Amino acid sequence: MRSILLILLLLIPAARLRGGGSPAEEMLRRYTAAVAERLPGRVGRALARISDPGRRLLAIRYYLNRSDSEIVAKWAWSPEEIEAFRRSDLYGTTIFELRKVQHAFGERNPGYVLDARMEIRTLGDQIHKWNSVHSVGSIAAMLHDTLMRWMADSTTMLDSLPTPVGMECFVAFLRSFQPPSPPTVAVPGLSQHGQLRAFDFRIRRRRRVVAGGSSDRIACEWDSPGWTARLHEAICAVSDRFTGPLEEPYEPWHYAFVHITPDVLAETQ
Ligand SMILES: [Zn+2]
Repeated sequence: MRSILLILLLLIPAARLRGGGSPAEEMLRRYTAAVAERLPGRVGRALARISDPGRRLLAIRYYLNRSDSEIVAKWAWSPEEIEAFRRSDLYGTTIFELRKVQHAFGERNPGYVLDARMEIRTLGDQIHKWNSVHSVGSIAAMLHDTLMRWMADSTTMLDSLPTPVGMECFVAFLRSFQPPSPPTVAVPGLSQHGQLRAFDFRIRRRRRVVAGGSSDRIACEWDSPGWTARLHEAICAVSDRFTGPLEEPYEPWHYAFVHITPDVLAETQ
């Protein structure tokens, strides 16, 4: 009896090392890998840093709904690109617009200060958030379960190895998946904070933060006391470069920022 137990104990880690899973999980792994190969190389490398299968699938769903050119244009800046931006005139005009808003807010709300986070969120930070944020995990689990049920359904008739027709069905299924509410962080690489195309504001009275960036305190910190409206009014009064706040997911502190580039200037002239 003891020897049987010992053999079983030795077999379990061996099965794990082989990546043993059910045939359906193995099939899902193959299809996921095949779709990832179709995406731009930088996306594939980011996906390799997401170990949870559900979170990886959910990320793929968001990448599939963007064009390759959009992904490349919006991808998180490298440290070198961030450095170049901080030395550019564009950075100067960005700060100028931001200071105008902060000044206008201070004048309209004596005793309160509007802070803005200036950090540029690197790809590593974005991947870390995707791998750890709870809202991503719960939607990812839902997508994973839905997909497993769909693949196991006899009417789906996917081949166990990815075929062109099977891939089309798989991609169509992923693209059409609608989470009940969006994740509270952007898919890795595509956060507006990765190119300083957005700011997260917070409101402070001396050292005390009265309205911050917590999703579960939006009603009591932002909406009820009126800070959502007062921030919006201050922004609209002095700058046309900000749009917001973010509606999905609702974040009254998050405003997108349009960089004043030569093409933007040309469009507005
Ligand atoms: Zn934000």
